[in-house]
Amino acid sequence: MYTWEVKSPINNYSIVPYIGHYVNWSDTLQGEKGKLDLNYWVLDYDLSKAKKQFEQVKPMLRAFEYWFGPYPFYEDGFQLIEAPHLGMEHQSAVAYGNQFSNGYLGTDLSGSSWGLKWDYIIVHESGHEWFGNNITTKDIADMWVHEGFTDYSETLFTEYYYGKKAANEYLQGLRKNIANDKPIIGPYGVNQEGSGDMYYKGANLIHTIRQVINDDEKFRQILRGLNKDFYHQTVTSKQVETYISQKAGKDLSKIFDQYLRTAQIPTLQLKAEGDKIKFKWTNCIAGFDMPVKLTNGQWVHPTTTEQKIKLEGSKFSNIAVDENFYINIKKQN
Ligand SMILES: [Zn+2]
Repeated sequence: MYTWEVKSPINNYSIVPYIGHYVNWSDTLQGEKGKLDLNYWVLDYDLSKAKKQFEQVKPMLRAFEYWFGPYPFYEDGFQLIEAPHLGMEHQSAVAYGNQFSNGYLGTDLSGSSWGLKWDYIIVHESGHEWFGNNITTKDIADMWVHEGFTDYSETLFTEYYYGKKAANEYLQGLRKNIANDKPIIGPYGVNQEGSGDMYYKGANLIHTIRQVINDDEKFRQILRGLNKDFYHQTVTSKQVETYISQKAGKDLSKIFDQYLRTAQIPTLQLKAEGDKIKFKWTNCIAGFDMPVKLTNGQWVHPTTTEQKIKLEGSKFSNIAVDENFYINIKKQN
């Protein structure tokens, strides 16, 4: 007979029974909050494959503690448990069914090949321990807070081990999966999710916000701050958005509104005029005002009213916007 206990608060969809002919082994990690117990449960005939594949757990936890702060459930330990389905973020008992191979069922969702360097389910479902299980939304209309940040955790994991160029390629590669069919935030009060874009577009929104903040250490401290200040809490998207604006010291509300509450991707219109460049936002909400970095390193702060400035050290024909911003560009000579 077994008795199981969870000491931390838990949301109801994070609870699941596992039944099977399991074998177990355990380990520990010296993490940011001390000794973390790790326990692995797999079906007996998968033991050798699992022991090899689950070596990715410790590096995953190290990377996520760096970006997000201490694993949120030290009191309950971290468990990875084989399941008959692909995977799920059950709190402190993550379900695993990714065939003990790298990628997402052996494929790379980004097409950049970086997604084949690691096991998608070990990384993604565990990322939910911070965004989904530690910070949980009150209404699933705001579920992008779970899936957008967790999708972005894949990019941050890639950055931690393979560098920024690799991470940017992975993140940009995910864009081919974005539908822009309807807003990411769904209707409130009726138990309904918004667009599936909450994953890849959510991650691209966070990455775009990171470019606007333009300070990687500040950005990392915001991610850690969210997990500390909203520790074991339920929140709204609005609270998370306001928190990020406050800590960034920039009003990002129009950017959040644009990407979360409409399905339109803002278009930056660029025109040449002698040695000057003219620019403005179109296909966007009133008052949209996101600054962007051009490929010559120059920052511009477009609004919905046309402005012009002198172009520094580059010809108009060579100018584009840094590809880390998820926007459309319309260029006219
Ligand atoms: Zn997820």
